Amino acid sequence: MTRKTTHQITLGDDRVGIVHIGGDAPVSVQTMTTCPTHDIDTCVKEINRLTEAGADLVRVAVPERKDTDALPEILRQTQIPLVADVHFHFQRALEAVEAGIHKIRLNPGNISDQEQVNRVIDACKERSIPIRVGVNEGSIVERKDKKKRLKELGKVFSTHRHGHTIALMIAKLEEYLDIFTARDFHEICLSAKSMDASLVIDVYTEISRRFDYPLHLGVTHAGPRETGSIRSIVALGSLLAQGIGDTLRISYASDPIYEVADGIEMLACLGLRPRKGAELIACPTCGRIQVDLLQLVQDVREKLEQDIELPLKVAVMGCVVNGPGEAEGADVAVFAGDRRGIIYVQGQRVANVPEDQILERLLDECRILQEKIQRGETQLGEKAVQITPPEDDELPEFGHESPPQEVQLTYPSTPSKAND
Ligand code: SF4
Repeated sequence: MTRKTTHQITLGDDRVGIVHIGGDAPVSVQTMTTCPTHDIDTCVKEINRLTEAGADLVRVAVPERKDTDALPEILRQTQIPLVADVHFHFQRALEAVEAGIHKIRLNPGNISDQEQVNRVIDACKERSIPIRVGVNEGSIVERKDKKKRLKELGKVFSTHRHGHTIALMIAKLEEYLDIFTARDFHEICLSAKSMDASLVIDVYTEISRRFDYPLHLGVTHAGPRETGSIRSIVALGSLLAQGIGDTLRISYASDPIYEVADGIEMLACLGLRPRKGAELIACPTCGRIQVDLLQLVQDVREKLEQDIELPLKVAVMGCVVNGPGEAEGADVAVFAGDRRGIIYVQGQRVANVPEDQILERLLDECRILQEKIQRGETQLGEKAVQITPPEDDELPEFGHESPPQEVQLTYPSTPSKAND
């Protein structure tokens, strides 16, 4: 996919690392802490846990003076660029800048005096601190002095399903950007969030057409992970697949560690970030199932998370129907037959074990392959052999009316190192 090239902003420092947003930078994943920022120990622990999980930047709320007072110590004890989330009180932004924060999130609409917004912009400009300018669907209000522009935009979007709201959000963003442009400040990232996934897709698509600033994607108030993941990923995934978006936050009413994990997984699925750790492929199961696959899949997932750091493709299939095909595509694969598991490594059959030994043997093979790759003896995705499905007498209770015909899959004639 071709990504839209936006103006690049930069945050961070030599100690915590530099993060670029926009331009040709990879899409970054961010999240937000859930504890009071002035609870320094808890906040540091939470930030470090999110850093460990793979977040690229973390935002903290600073509603009170005691929160900005805590920032110097939090910054000292953490190793990731931090963003201060400012609402209503421009002083919090100035205090956060003074404390050394790496980025500010500001909604100029809830700071009443433009002179106060100007002071924040000037302070950030002086220290090269970027600002995210956000409009949320829930916080926009129609202002009389914007009526003319709204009318013009309204005409543009008159046939659009979210026409009026999109016009309002764009008018609001234009109004905010006028303030920043007047002070010649361009280290800006834009966001326009809603809880409505289809509105998020439409409004960001329009904003991307109209502005060259980098975009921070998000669906706000998405709910708990169980339902919020679908809402968020359908919107953000759709935008990213069109090349729109430079940084993202998935927002769940759940542990923010899931926001990071799901953001990273989404980017990996779209080919926008290299995968860390194994990629698990598993069949959904059906009436042909030959082992307790659902439990096996959960066990394999947990063990892979613990033991495998390379992006091995591991397939776990419930019967022989799709087994050979998956064994072809995966680095390590198992497909089940009559309470047994046939295990393949790099396309080569290496074992036929009873059900209670599948997990252990599969994981052993994953570990061995990982070590070989780490020693440079083979590589991910390498295949060396022809794959044939198991013989009929290996799967006496196959369960199909007619067992599948032998399939010959041909691979490049590279030598097999899988089972030296
Ligand atoms: S691999 Fe076999 S058990 Fe799994 S869904 Fe396909 S046919 Fe059903």
